[in-house]
Amino acid sequence: MVLETGDFRVSYGRITALKGVDIKVAENEAVAVIGANGAGKSSLMNGLAGIVEAQGGVLYKGADLSRLPSHQRVKRGLVLCPEGRRIFPELNVEENLRLGAYRRGAVKTGLVKVYDMFPRLAERRTQAAGYLSGGEQQMLAIGRALMAEPELLMLDEPSLGLAPVLVDQVFETLRNLRAAGIPILLVEQNAVKALAFADRAYILENGRVVMSGKGAELLADERVKQAYLGI
Ligand code: ATP
Repeated sequence: MVLETGDFRVSYGRITALKGVDIKVAENEAVAVIGANGAGKSSLMNGLAGIVEAQGGVLYKGADLSRLPSHQRVKRGLVLCPEGRRIFPELNVEENLRLGAYRRGAVKTGLVKVYDMFPRLAERRTQAAGYLSGGEQQMLAIGRALMAEPELLMLDEPSLGLAPVLVDQVFETLRNLRAAGIPILLVEQNAVKALAFADRAYILENGRVVMSGKGAELLADERVKQAYLGI
């Protein structure tokens, strides 16, 4: 297993956002966590990345990371592409990418790889990131995460706010990354796309996993269709 959580919990004061979540990601697997607004998806991602405080186990490649600060998790290859992209708008594209390799990764080879994957970013390498389109900014956020050479890439709603054609591009990119052997843990509100993409998925409701299974099976499940897919 690449990742295994045990009774994983996140609270903000008296609000409990995650109430004991057990999920797994195996080698070469793409796993999605879907759920409505406020289900706890970002809390899961941020807790795993060590950005918010969490309780419970985080077993990553057999080692317990639950007490490590976020930068130590990045150093081990557990890398988050955060919700809302969080790029630095006043820095140029290449400067943003270089920051991705700050804790881990080789700048030179990373840039070659990322520019190869996203030629658009290569064309715009000296342009301020704030001037990129939404889709390009998302590519930049993914590219920056790749600069850290993830051994588990976690993505928080990478399709958020993008036009349908760009959403398709994001999922195409994720397919390529999975084909390249990078395990992926994705949280998404876009349940149809996420389930179609993922090998396995978990459905999160009010901080708990209420269903899990193969992506294709959940996509075909009548209860899932009614509650989450709007079809
Ligand atoms: P969204 O799709 O809106 O990002 P989500 O599934 O990612 O939703 P979370 O952001 O993890 O859900 O939020 C889970 C619950 O925790 C919600 O009830 C939310 O209001 C609450 N919450 C999240 N962040 C905080 C915070 N910093 N302080 C207090 N409550 C929070």
